[in-house]
Amino acid sequence: MEHSFIAWAKQRSSKLPQVKLGIGDDCALLAGSAEDSVVTTDSLCDGTHFILSECGGRRAGRKLLGVSLSDLASMGATPVAVFLSLCLPRAAAGDIASEVFEGVLEMAKEYEVSIAGGDTNVWDGPLVLNLTAIGKVEPDKAWRRSGAKPGDAIVVTGVLGGSILGKHLDFEPRLRLAKKLKELDIVSAATDISDGLGIDLLNVTVASRCGAEVHLQKIPISEAASRLAQSSGNSPLDHAIGDGEDFELLLAIPKEKLPLLPAEIDGVPLTPIGEFVSRTGLWSKERGGVKQLPPRGYVHS
Ligand SMILES: [Mg+2]
Repeated sequence: MEHSFIAWAKQRSSKLPQVKLGIGDDCALLAGSAEDSVVTTDSLCDGTHFILSECGGRRAGRKLLGVSLSDLASMGATPVAVFLSLCLPRAAAGDIASEVFEGVLEMAKEYEVSIAGGDTNVWDGPLVLNLTAIGKVEPDKAWRRSGAKPGDAIVVTGVLGGSILGKHLDFEPRLRLAKKLKELDIVSAATDISDGLGIDLLNVTVASRCGAEVHLQKIPISEAASRLAQSSGNSPLDHAIGDGEDFELLLAIPKEKLPLLPAEIDGVPLTPIGEFVSRTGLWSKERGGVKQLPPRGYVHS
């Protein structure tokens, strides 16, 4: 199966200038650059990160690439090339491989990234997908989790919560938005919201050795979070703080640069929800003062 799949995949893939040699040799050859390389890898398993019988291979493939592109966006990087490895269930391996590939390919075209290589295996287990993505960023200009300072505003893109109702499969990695923010040069730290706002914000505060005060009423809550709350027993706000896989960006913006922050970019709102503070921990700011905010979120097993 492998040789015909590789030949087919090679023929389906775009030729982009950042890749001198793509699918078909022992290694890919990427064009050299004066920029820093940014590398991320993610694995997704049938039954844990998607349910193949419900979503199909194409959407699983889109999610696979989307997750990595979201990580590149969170570093302020531009994608260059991706490497796709598939562990395919023995029954229907060829069909599933081509469906997954079509999904990855669709999104690769949307974001001008090259599928430059990979590997396929067949086994008796469920579908397991792995993707490694390489991006580039100007030397020493990558956004990190560790750059937030007390006084910086906490800003989130989009709306949060309820991704299980569909957004965890069908989302826009925030690459274009990140590119525009990079041009404005106003971001001091960033991550993407993959484990849930509570945990991802905590990660930034730990890396930056500071704390965060959140104005709970300012958190942008998705319509899906409200819908989910009708049956879950949790509030829409609980879902916005605790649900994972929003694939939005969480940014630190120094106070003096906040006036330069657009209210939205390409229809995606950018919402200040609080500020980083010197006192460590997560705090909610309410009328009566500040209270400790328990870290919540979805930890991927
Ligand atoms: Mg991430």
